[in-house]
Amino acid sequence: MTIPLQNFIEHYLSHIWTGIQFGDFEVTKLYLFGEVRFLHFLLLLMGLDIITGLFKAWKNKELWSRDSLFGYARKLLILVVVILANVIDQILSLGGAVAYATVLFYIASEGLSIVENLAQVGVPFPTVIVKKLKNINFSRKDVTEENKEEIISIDNEKRGKIDLVKVAIDAGHGGFGVTPGKRSPANEYEWDFNNKVVVSAIKYLKAYGIDVLRLDDPTGKTDVSLTTRTNKANAWGADILISCHHNANTGKWGEWTGTETYTYVGKWTDAERLAGLVQKRLVNAYGLHDRGLKKADFHMLRESIMTAILIECGYMDSTIDIKKMRDDRVLEAAGKAVADAVAEYFGIEDKSSKPIEKPGEEIDMKEFEELKKELAVLKKEVAKKQDKPNDSHTPDPAHAKAWKEATEAGYVDGKHPHHPLTREQYATIRLREKN
Ligand SMILES: [Zn+2]
Repeated sequence: MTIPLQNFIEHYLSHIWTGIQFGDFEVTKLYLFGEVRFLHFLLLLMGLDIITGLFKAWKNKELWSRDSLFGYARKLLILVVVILANVIDQILSLGGAVAYATVLFYIASEGLSIVENLAQVGVPFPTVIVKKLKNINFSRKDVTEENKEEIISIDNEKRGKIDLVKVAIDAGHGGFGVTPGKRSPANEYEWDFNNKVVVSAIKYLKAYGIDVLRLDDPTGKTDVSLTTRTNKANAWGADILISCHHNANTGKWGEWTGTETYTYVGKWTDAERLAGLVQKRLVNAYGLHDRGLKKADFHMLRESIMTAILIECGYMDSTIDIKKMRDDRVLEAAGKAVADAVAEYFGIEDKSSKPIEKPGEEIDMKEFEELKKELAVLKKEVAKKQDKPNDSHTPDPAHAKAWKEATEAGYVDGKHPHHPLTREQYATIRLREKN
């Protein structure tokens, strides 16, 4: 049996061709990327991200939109950063630490992006994958503290300046008493307290130019399920999630007190940093005991795929804390505390140096016209008072003698010595003088 010549040549050419390609790639790879571990995983994830991204874009009917096209192109730039990291490693003889940290960083971010794409397309997946992905960056001991900080600052820059920051927020419970408990011993609903903090937080977050999605029913009429809440946040692609609550201990009045902030069980560097910033300001806003940062397997923290925290601002069944919760100014300040902490977390400039106008200080045209009328009336009254002469019957000392004589002589009636004299009054006085 003979192999046709054409097949033979094709066979060997392709061997040689792939050989050259493969060899070149290996050499190029070594030269550009060093011996970076897990680089092949990163390349794989980048490919998968593009594929799942195409599905998402297809579903959202934006396959060829500028954003989508830019997203595909941006992938290539990730490799530039890895090359850069490798160059730094080689020059500073860091043994590949920077490149390795960089690759881990992008593996995590590509992984999360894939998960986000899947969520938007509607593919279910176990949350544990996401939670672990988020931990990849910081899970290795050989990622030094310094590297961590660098990675965080890259992350902040990416989120704060290139993309619009997206914050999902919810007031815990709702439905006015659907969930048993969740109210103070005086029958005040937890949602009402939570809601005031959330409304204020949204106002201040928007003032920072942050995009906000509210996960609960803003009217409080229905109790949106926890699963619906986290699904909404996941599909929207929120960067962080904040769940607002007020605590309860026994449900009967007591003297327990304090503010605490939760992150999911395990080590979540991002969430813990956010929690720390929020907790510090919340304690300030309420002026209550600092119960610190805590861990719990709460649904909102476990099932959300982004950095998530849950705040327990104070105890509804505390005779100490309830006073703060009944003060709307405190709840407003708590919302601002949350917004300021989020802004600091993302490194967003403080736009609030330009003070936010309070609602009461704004007036519409109708009110303006009414004020103008009122002012005119006041002005007239002032003018009248100014024109009105001194009504006293006592003359100035300098004129007292003359006034007394003129009165006794009958030229004047002895009244209103300070009133001005008209021409006709003068004529009458002249006539009296003659007679
Ligand atoms: Zn609650």
